[in-house]
Amino acid sequence: MRIKDIEKRIEEGYKLLSSCNLCGFECGLNRLKGELGRCRSGKEVFIASANLHFGEEPPISGKNGSGTVFFTNCCLRCVYCQNFPISQLGKGKKVSTSELSTKFLELQEKGAHNLNLVTPTHYIPQIIEALYLAWNKGFSMPVVYNTSGYESEEALSLLDGVIDIYLPDMRYSEDKKASCFSTAKEYVKINRRNIKEMFRQVGNLKVDHFGMACSGLIVRHLVLPEDIAGSQSTFEFLAGEVSDKVRVSLMGQYFPAYRASEFPPLDRRIRKEEYDLILEYLNLCGLSSGWIQEEEFSK
Ligand code: SF4
Repeated sequence: MRIKDIEKRIEEGYKLLSSCNLCGFECGLNRLKGELGRCRSGKEVFIASANLHFGEEPPISGKNGSGTVFFTNCCLRCVYCQNFPISQLGKGKKVSTSELSTKFLELQEKGAHNLNLVTPTHYIPQIIEALYLAWNKGFSMPVVYNTSGYESEEALSLLDGVIDIYLPDMRYSEDKKASCFSTAKEYVKINRRNIKEMFRQVGNLKVDHFGMACSGLIVRHLVLPEDIAGSQSTFEFLAGEVSDKVRVSLMGQYFPAYRASEFPPLDRRIRKEEYDLILEYLNLCGLSSGWIQEEEFSK
């Protein structure tokens, strides 16, 4: 077992659920008794899918795919969420922690390079329990934690030593924008504190002989129209306060989904010149060891 105090972690995790403060919203509700916070999740875990996924960064997807579990619901309410049927509309089915651990093992049997937990924040205690069950049955893949980066300090400390690869978003550099477009309070402070803590736990990305990720931090940054994401400030923070070697995955594939049409300029894709400018900022900050994903641009 890779964590000596894993049973204690599970116990502490369920204690957090009894007055939930797993994320920056700190709802304080008793989810063990079925109370639902902003994430609309109680004690039971819901997942939308568990499959091999080939669209992640090269050291995550590789040739065989990443064993990806999409968790239902989300702490944030991004008006442009590209997974909104799952994150906002609750698409998914209930699984016990034992069934979840079986899904993890099945993904390993299918040849996945890693286990990729997507939108896991509100289920951290149950996920640790499922991992514990899986590790006892021979599960050995690296664990990727694919998150909006809005966890509480307590939640992240539960994950220390459990997670091999952190894959957090950095969505905004201004709280006003985070509040307006994702209804998150104090996003910048919480998100940046978490990025530093994730880096403390796992450091920069390490890959094996085949170029597949073994451990480390990869930061995802989605370019938004009219620089709503405040990209330059995010890059300056990363280069100045985390590491200029940190891997950044710059994403240019924004498209207006969910309620984005109600929030111009989020009602359009980004323009090529917007993307190029952000790419220039990235290079100016010396963050050139990540990946760029360009897609179709708006005219
Ligand atoms: S995970 Fe976050 S949003 Fe959900 S109940 Fe806990 S504190 Fe509230």
